[in-house]
Amino acid sequence: MKRIQRFIFTSVLIIGVSVFGYSQNKKLPNVKILATGGTIAGSASSATSSSYAAGQVGIQTMINAVPGIKDLANVSGEQVANVGSQDMSVEIWLKLAKRINELLLQSDVNGIVVTHGTDTQEETAYFLSLVVKSDKPVVTTGSMRSSTSISAEGPLNLYNAVAIAASEEAKGKGVLVTLNDEIHSPRDVSKMNTTNVGSFSAPIKGVMGGVFYGRLGFFREPTTKFGKSSEFSVEGLKSLPRVDIIYAYADMAPDLIDIHVKAGAKGIVIAGVGNGNMTEATLQAAKKAYEEHGVIVVRSRRVATGWVLRDNEFKDADYHTIAAHDLNPAKARILLMLALAKGKKLSEMQDLFYTY
Ligand code: ASP
Repeated sequence: MKRIQRFIFTSVLIIGVSVFGYSQNKKLPNVKILATGGTIAGSASSATSSSYAAGQVGIQTMINAVPGIKDLANVSGEQVANVGSQDMSVEIWLKLAKRINELLLQSDVNGIVVTHGTDTQEETAYFLSLVVKSDKPVVTTGSMRSSTSISAEGPLNLYNAVAIAASEEAKGKGVLVTLNDEIHSPRDVSKMNTTNVGSFSAPIKGVMGGVFYGRLGFFREPTTKFGKSSEFSVEGLKSLPRVDIIYAYADMAPDLIDIHVKAGAKGIVIAGVGNGNMTEATLQAAKKAYEEHGVIVVRSRRVATGWVLRDNEFKDADYHTIAAHDLNPAKARILLMLALAKGKKLSEMQDLFYTY
């Protein structure tokens, strides 16, 4: 009886291995594509229509639309979400980050690609860069044109993303963002144009590398902490503290800060005028928010690019404010949320904005 059992077990194993071996090319790296939606998965009623619905096409259809992708790596897909990235949420971020960490622990996964809408891609990529604990490449990509559009650029962006995720060169560089033949660091990259295929750029520090039909190279390393050296983690996290962003303007009303505090914000980022400025009355409201409610206010910028310097036109310590350094408001919000989740105090905050 035992012999028969052993025979059946061995036969099943041999059949399983040969079937697996048949569909997997052992010489190629294994890349997992986690799909979250966006315009890259969007479709329109015609190839020249400017209106379309994001997050319509499933991951397998997207993979099938990329000629040659299977020569780069053994690719397999997983649908984590299917939303326009304007609907990206902390809940999806946590799910995505946990899944990526889980997959990267597997010896048969060499790299990961995340397909994502372009609207909040820089936020998701920055978040992942702080909480993914692996040296294996993780690459986010998307497209400005929907999958049914004339000259859709999604398939080539996905091809390039898989090439990067499968490469030796990308190891140890943290999460990377690729669109339009460029490779970017999540901290540095921003969406700069509402419709153009060359929308993504890193105005302060420049691109990290380039990729041309899968051939790639890097020009520089990331300049801040990420990945394994980051102190942030999603382990055990079910949500993140609420952090809101307020856009500053001439004659800004100071009660906006009070309104957000009352709504439950534990932190506030100001998209400040110029070098992270706001009206004197708003600064006073920021001071009060910290002294009376422990709410930390970070000064970022509404200007497209540039550093927000500490103690520039006033002493930050006088108002308990933190300077966002080169982080734009959306990314300053992410760092503040993770720092608050970790119980960081005001005295530790400024340093985090220089370090991450
Ligand atoms: N609204 C879309 C999104 O972010 C835009 C895009 O993907 O380009 O999902």
